Amino acid sequence: MSAEAKLSIVIPLCNEAETLVPLYEKISTTADANDIDAFEVIFVDDGSTDTSWEVLESLKSEHPERIKALRFRRNLGKAAALSAGFEVTRGEIVITMDADLQDEPAEIPRFLEKLGEGYDCVSGWKQLRRDPLGKTLPSRVFNAATRVASGVKIHDFNCGFKAYRAEAIHSIELYGELHRYIPVLLAAEGFTTTEIPVEHHRRTHGVSKYGWKRLIKGGLDLITVVVLTRYLKRPGHFFGGFGLLSGLIGFAILAWLTADKIIFGSSIGQRPLLQLGILLVILGVQLVSTGLIGELLNFNSKSKGSNAPHVIEEL
Ligand code: UDP
Ligand code: MG
Repeated sequence: MSAEAKLSIVIPLCNEAETLVPLYEKISTTADANDIDAFEVIFVDDGSTDTSWEVLESLKSEHPERIKALRFRRNLGKAAALSAGFEVTRGEIVITMDADLQDEPAEIPRFLEKLGEGYDCVSGWKQLRRDPLGKTLPSRVFNAATRVASGVKIHDFNCGFKAYRAEAIHSIELYGELHRYIPVLLAAEGFTTTEIPVEHHRRTHGVSKYGWKRLIKGGLDLITVVVLTRYLKRPGHFFGGFGLLSGLIGFAILAWLTADKIIFGSSIGQRPLLQLGILLVILGVQLVSTGLIGELLNFNSKSKGSNAPHVIEEL
């Protein structure tokens, strides 16, 4: 691998044995035609059960200086695969694309050109998406919801074809289904994202790994992302705010009941208000403590979570 790789292309894959060789060839042809010689392709095998890893081994032996391949013991999902790939990139620019040939490598120069305009991330937009309606329709709803919730105005958050300045991609952490929200996570760190329409091919080999189950998980992650990006930095403030409010109301109720008893001699033992007051004070203490624990965890986890333990083989 050339030490001065300027461009790193990260490709997560799970059971895509048929497309890996033609994909590498297309990338290589595009690079040659555009005088991009310092590049590396990082394949991350996300627990394939077909012959993908054997194909990668032979690709690696043919192009040892251009290819890097990582293998997970089992399927951990696209976000973990991307994240493991990012950890070993050396390029100043990082491109991600799917392994199934639905993304067109010939478009890489357009991404680089757009990135050159000063953006931190250029996201592909599959304007004419070649997937069944069962995928495209939920995806439209998902994109609209993400736009509204995040305030990031792009059309296709989930497109796997993206280009980044290395600094941007190394500043975020991915797990679960969070790869769908990279532009949102980047925006929270102050990085800019723009989009370019990209060609999208029909899947000709293998099968899609994304069904409705993953869509639901991805949808739930929207809540995580909104909380993460808006409040992650200060969980103490997020929970503490509610806790303080609840505690103060509870305390006011208890103070009023106490005054009522001392001044007017009313009995307070049987009043529902007493239970409410106690409940609110306890809730307040709990919420403030939760916030504090969040702050402590934040404070103590100085190093980023690494995917290195999941990688069982490396070429
Ligand atoms: N992929 C992966 N791990 C998974 C699911 C998918 O690495 O658990 C890879 C897959 O091999 C492909 C890319 O992520 O390279 C996009 O997946 P897919 O084509 O199934 O998604 P779709 O295009 O149908 O949305
Ligand atoms: Mg696909």
